[in-house]
Amino acid sequence: MTDVLVSTPLDEARLAFRDELLESGMLVATSVPGIYGRSGDFERIVTGLDTLLGESFASLGATVLRFPPVYPRADFERTDYIASFPDLSGIVSSFEDGDREHRELLAAREDGHAWDGWLKPADVVLTNAICHPLYATLEGTLPEGGSVHDLSGYGFRHEPSNDPMRLQSFRMREFVFAGTPDAAQLYRDTWLDTSVAVLASLGLAVDAVPANDPFFGRAGKMLVSAQLRENLKVEIIVPLYGDLHEGTAIASANCQRDHLTAAFDIRTTDGEIAHGACIAFGMERTALALLRTHGMRLDAWPVDVRALLGL
Ligand code: 5GP
Ligand code: ZN
Repeated sequence: MTDVLVSTPLDEARLAFRDELLESGMLVATSVPGIYGRSGDFERIVTGLDTLLGESFASLGATVLRFPPVYPRADFERTDYIASFPDLSGIVSSFEDGDREHRELLAAREDGHAWDGWLKPADVVLTNAICHPLYATLEGTLPEGGSVHDLSGYGFRHEPSNDPMRLQSFRMREFVFAGTPDAAQLYRDTWLDTSVAVLASLGLAVDAVPANDPFFGRAGKMLVSAQLRENLKVEIIVPLYGDLHEGTAIASANCQRDHLTAAFDIRTTDGEIAHGACIAFGMERTALALLRTHGMRLDAWPVDVRALLGL
């Protein structure tokens, strides 16, 4: 990694972990930071974790729903994501014109010029948080007692980084509740405890801490302070680099209040706007935290951890 400028001991520790992952073949680098291929062993960890989470949350009786990694741009508009996180967003563009414009594109490309100006935003965007496509389908009145969904899929966040824990495209497993405000708060708190217990059972040194999102710009600073003040987001963190860093979030438990439910006009049976709450697990981050904690050789992991993950 001689081509990368190393500025702090933490950067150095992250690069050393990245090198270890690449050298062991767990991850395969591409030319873009934060985009990796994953090995068979890495996928075995993710599959084991997916199964364990399904079992741990089974008593929720959640409705299973899977969406592709893109969703309608019209729904993205309603989430307001572009206002809070323009820098993390990703829009899909494609070619929609005729032969003449195609010839112009090819000529520009041939001359070594930018050709993407000939593409136009399509009607889909990359999904940033996998609960957003769900909320878009819940418009109207929820069933009595609210709804619970089990989601899994890829999220995209444009955050190129050499930290192997910060990927641009990664999988999440989410358990999402929508219902009355009290029920949403209770759901978040109850299932946060379950999540901490499941992750601790895998030998991870987890801690639950109040958290804030990287809202963009000056207006975003106010959203950050509200999020912290009202304890809307709790993250489950694991220390990976000793004293150099307090820990990286491998899961989060969110009270979304009426943020998305109002945008999509989702109501409870009493006609009020519902509240949403979600528990989100980062699949790659959790697998990486396990590798950092237990080592690169799965057959040398503690027997109880291997049993829990079916390894
Ligand atoms: P959140 O919506 O809370 O930001 O993200 C949910 C979960 O996705 C986080 O707790 C974390 O486990 C995972 N996650 C968030 N950002 C990243 C990232 O940049 N890389 C990876 N690998 N996982 C992430
Ligand atoms: Zn969510």
